[in-house]
Amino acid sequence: MPFEKLGLQAELVHAVKAQGYARPTPIQTRAIPIALEGRDILAGAQTGTGKTAAFALPILQLLSRRGTNGREPRALVLTPTRELAAQVEESMRTYGKGLRLRSTAIFGGVGLNPQIQQLRRGVDILVATPGRLLDLAGRGNLDLSRVEILVLDEGDRMLDMGFIPDIRRILALLPRKRQNMLFSATYSDEIRDLADRLLHHPEMIDVAPRNAAVETVAQVVHPVANTRKRELLAKLILDGDWRQVLVFTRTKHGANRLAKQLLSDGVSATAIHGNKSQTARTRALADFKRGTVRTLVATDLASRGLDIDQLPHVVNYELPHVAQDYIHRIGRTGRAGANGVALSLVCAEERPLLADIQRLLQREIEVETIAGFKPESPRLATTPRLAPTSRPAPAATRAPRRPRAPRRPARSKSTTDSRRRPPRRRQSRLPRSYR
Ligand code: AMP
Repeated sequence: MPFEKLGLQAELVHAVKAQGYARPTPIQTRAIPIALEGRDILAGAQTGTGKTAAFALPILQLLSRRGTNGREPRALVLTPTRELAAQVEESMRTYGKGLRLRSTAIFGGVGLNPQIQQLRRGVDILVATPGRLLDLAGRGNLDLSRVEILVLDEGDRMLDMGFIPDIRRILALLPRKRQNMLFSATYSDEIRDLADRLLHHPEMIDVAPRNAAVETVAQVVHPVANTRKRELLAKLILDGDWRQVLVFTRTKHGANRLAKQLLSDGVSATAIHGNKSQTARTRALADFKRGTVRTLVATDLASRGLDIDQLPHVVNYELPHVAQDYIHRIGRTGRAGANGVALSLVCAEERPLLADIQRLLQREIEVETIAGFKPESPRLATTPRLAPTSRPAPAATRAPRRPRAPRRPARSKSTTDSRRRPPRRRQSRLPRSYR
């Protein structure tokens, strides 16, 4: 179905075509007409599916048709990370080029004043991380009482990062009558709970089987001794003449060390993680996207949301402790139908993690031993078999349930419930500095 058939106005169709989008992705085909009707949406979509345009295009159209009515934001998009906020706002600008709407991104780690100035000048679309948004609202620099459309992007990540109390506080600042859209890569019970409280008779859209790794990504495991991983990585990059590779480590310290070591091996590299200043993070990402740096070494901070066009290689230098993160990591390649390769350098100690990942994927990953890097343990030359497990599948792999019927007439729920129920504290897997 062409973009024209989705009910989008000419300026927006022109903008997406200028981006080279030939036709809408499945999430766009499903979500755009519903969002244009002003209805609530619960969408199960991973990054890489085109979900940003699925909510950005309807927001731009709805707001431009309704006309500007002041300085206060009329659409609010909440994202879990600063990078994603910047990226979503950039998409708003790109798609909204032919419209007279103002957008800005608000996130921590950078000065408050430019953001305050921007808000004073007036904003239609605000893309923000929760902490800085609350900060500005608390100081009286931001009035959210005119918000007509709310989007929670990467809802599952927001929960993982412990943002629920912040989200409840933000909901209390919004008008009760508004359109809501919740995007999440996975459906846990917590997400369903959030959907119950946030959404009013939502349309459920589920475009990709959750946990199904992007089909265009070739996955390979290279068994290797822990002590020789770096040597193997440098060899792969140099022999393969890789121009752009995103490498995941588990720790910030590990990311820094590896980036330094790669530099000494003659491979240009930089690290991105939560201990870096926002300016350094933005610069590292920009250098990598431009191609001035070949290797970006990242912690899981970068595994979600980052959109790097046509990224050909992703390397798991260390496997993640949480199998789900593997899927988010490798989803950085093979985006929007492009082919990509995801390699994992796996040492003997990581065998149980690999087994978890394979169980989640419901398939075995091909193993290829690189000559001269035979692992110390012969068992690693084969991947662990997919033994039948008595463990129940993780919540996220279960079939999605429709959100429960509203417990009472909706609309007003989000705010009333947030006052009644004490926030359920979840252990945040990531430190606050990531937000
Ligand atoms: P997202 O899932 O929103 O992060 O988008 C992933 C990538 O897909 C981005 O690079 C978009 O520019 C690209 N994209 C979005 N919609 C389309 C489309 N209809 N056709 C081709 N690429 C698209």
